[in-house]
Amino acid sequence: MSDCFILLSAGKSKRFKSKINKQFITYKNKPLFEHSLKIAQDSKLFKRILVVTNKKLKKKKYKGIDIIKGGIERHNSTQNALHFLKNKKIKNVYIHDAARPNLSINLLKKLRNNLKKNSAVVPYLNSENSVKYRNNNKINNLNRDKVLLTQTPQCFNFIEIFDLYKNNKEKITDEASLYLNNNKKIKFITGDKNNFKITTVDDLKYLKSETYYGIGFDVHRLIKNKKLFLGGVKIPFHSGLKGHSDGDVIIHAIIDSLLGAMKKGDIGTYYPSNSSKFKNIRSKNMLNPVLKLLNNNNFSINNIDINLICENPKVSKIRYRIINSLSKLLSINRNLINLKGKTVEKLGIIGKEHAIACEVICSLSK
Ligand code: ZN
Repeated sequence: MSDCFILLSAGKSKRFKSKINKQFITYKNKPLFEHSLKIAQDSKLFKRILVVTNKKLKKKKYKGIDIIKGGIERHNSTQNALHFLKNKKIKNVYIHDAARPNLSINLLKKLRNNLKKNSAVVPYLNSENSVKYRNNNKINNLNRDKVLLTQTPQCFNFIEIFDLYKNNKEKITDEASLYLNNNKKIKFITGDKNNFKITTVDDLKYLKSETYYGIGFDVHRLIKNKKLFLGGVKIPFHSGLKGHSDGDVIIHAIIDSLLGAMKKGDIGTYYPSNSSKFKNIRSKNMLNPVLKLLNNNNFSINNIDINLICENPKVSKIRYRIINSLSKLLSINRNLINLKGKTVEKLGIIGKEHAIACEVICSLSK
């Protein structure tokens, strides 16, 4: 006798307004339904895994997995699955919705432990929202602590659920309803908040925070009688960086990398070097319009990695101050910023301390 994981992946996603059925939408580089499939496989709890779908899947790609056709409604698909499993010596079935990609092995193990003493186990969460209930034209309050929001996988003794389904004529939205309609006992256990269901395109957008990368580079000549600014910090040095502004190569390269990741052009788009308006501008003030763009377009910075290329000053001596300053200027945690120093073996104008260069890579989430 063995257990079977049934993955329901045949729904028509009526509330999910997209040309592709939601189970097959790409989420974290693979179709949505494959996420819980992989968890079921990795858990090693199942002798048999069954996918119910109306899409043609390549058998080769899904070795060791049974694939059968789904029905019109969810309960038709479950029924198909149960019929397929008849006479296959199944003890328990775990029936799971493909639209819950964040299933965890932990939850599967909890369900299995509870199945030892119960013939029906269903995970649930309490409602975090206050709940009202409409009855005819009257709206009543419900005690939210007594509201159970059921999740999947819902797990049952095979013979028991097979018989219940055999005699069922009603349209049901989950197997727990079928049990309750028949006054059968269910053991409800606490589910997993992360195991939520994707119903609308917005749910998916919320899950799928996309990552973008940007690269920036800058170099300025060093000249006498100018103050040196790096990352917004004034550094005591024999020369400063020549430029329209204070020549802060770190900030300029950061600006270009951020603009690059947002696909918003380059630093010259916002600060044309032929405009006298920006003459002698402090580079830290040049960050303002870029930070506004980040905010207005819902981007957040994941990390920034900086290579400062110079013979002197020694980066190890100024690293702390620069990272501190950048963290304040960009309003991000210090540990999201990394600053590396790179010398050039005294080669070329950088090696002779006539210039300083900087390159930056940043990663943003939207
Ligand atoms: Zn520059």
